[in-house]
Amino acid sequence: MSLLPGPFVCRFAPSPNGRLHLGHAYSAMVNEAAARRARGTFLLRIEDIDATRCRREYEAGIMEDLAWLSITPDGPPRRQSEHFAEYAAALARLEALGLVYPAFESRGEILRAVRAREAETGLPHPRDPDGGPLFPFARESMSDAARAARRAAGAPFVMRLDMARALATRDAPLSWLEAQGTPEGPLLAVPAEPARWGDVILARREVPTSYHLSVVMDDAAQGIGHVIRGMDLFEATAVHRLLQHLLRLPPPVYHHHRLILDQAGRKLSKSSDATSLAALRAAGVTPQEVRQRLELF
Ligand code: GLU
Repeated sequence: MSLLPGPFVCRFAPSPNGRLHLGHAYSAMVNEAAARRARGTFLLRIEDIDATRCRREYEAGIMEDLAWLSITPDGPPRRQSEHFAEYAAALARLEALGLVYPAFESRGEILRAVRAREAETGLPHPRDPDGGPLFPFARESMSDAARAARRAAGAPFVMRLDMARALATRDAPLSWLEAQGTPEGPLLAVPAEPARWGDVILARREVPTSYHLSVVMDDAAQGIGHVIRGMDLFEATAVHRLLQHLLRLPPPVYHHHRLILDQAGRKLSKSSDATSLAALRAAGVTPQEVRQRLELF
């Protein structure tokens, strides 16, 4: 095995469910600059698995905004909606290993169970790193045969990762390499603690994948050696690292960059139009001014 590092390949992976804002521009710029410094490759991926929220017009908006900023990916984008069969195959592998199971509890039932438990114990129910309540039911609450029958009968379900069984497949604790400060910064091994996410959803009845599953599949498929993305995805990396282990995918090096915040210190969101690149452009802001503004952060 060669000890030389492979070529530097990174990606910008927006979801076309709204217009890009300054935070996206920053992420795309950090990625492209790192690829150019390394004489590597900068790829684009359109994360459009959610058909209810993603629209082709937003994808066109992404292309328009990147072109306006002179951010030029190397080659055509990979569109996740064109790869459902690959995600379904990976999910089937996990299912054959007994590591995922169909769960039928609706969001409302989950919230009611969480509230009932909190009322009963007087203690807060454990939350995942994003603040969502951990799945409050055990896989063992229903037999595998009963689950299979309910699924065959057409009941709505999601596929959840059996976190306890997944963790039991490790020989040693998992960690990932995080580049500190900059994409080329010193590497630190960060212990991955996916148990904090509980039995996460890996697919839905109508969509055979999820953000977590498709992101690790695609990073491997696109040969991404360096995942450079916002700090808001730092904690999710623990789940990604576990899935890479389960699916035998090569783990990339990660760099989670700072987030661009609004004046009130909040994360920018796609619903606040004021900082969208389209709105800035319409207001007469130039691409140079956007670049200058972001370099100050
Ligand atoms: N599609 C995700 C987003 O728009 C980014 C995924 C990633 O970079 O891993 O937030």
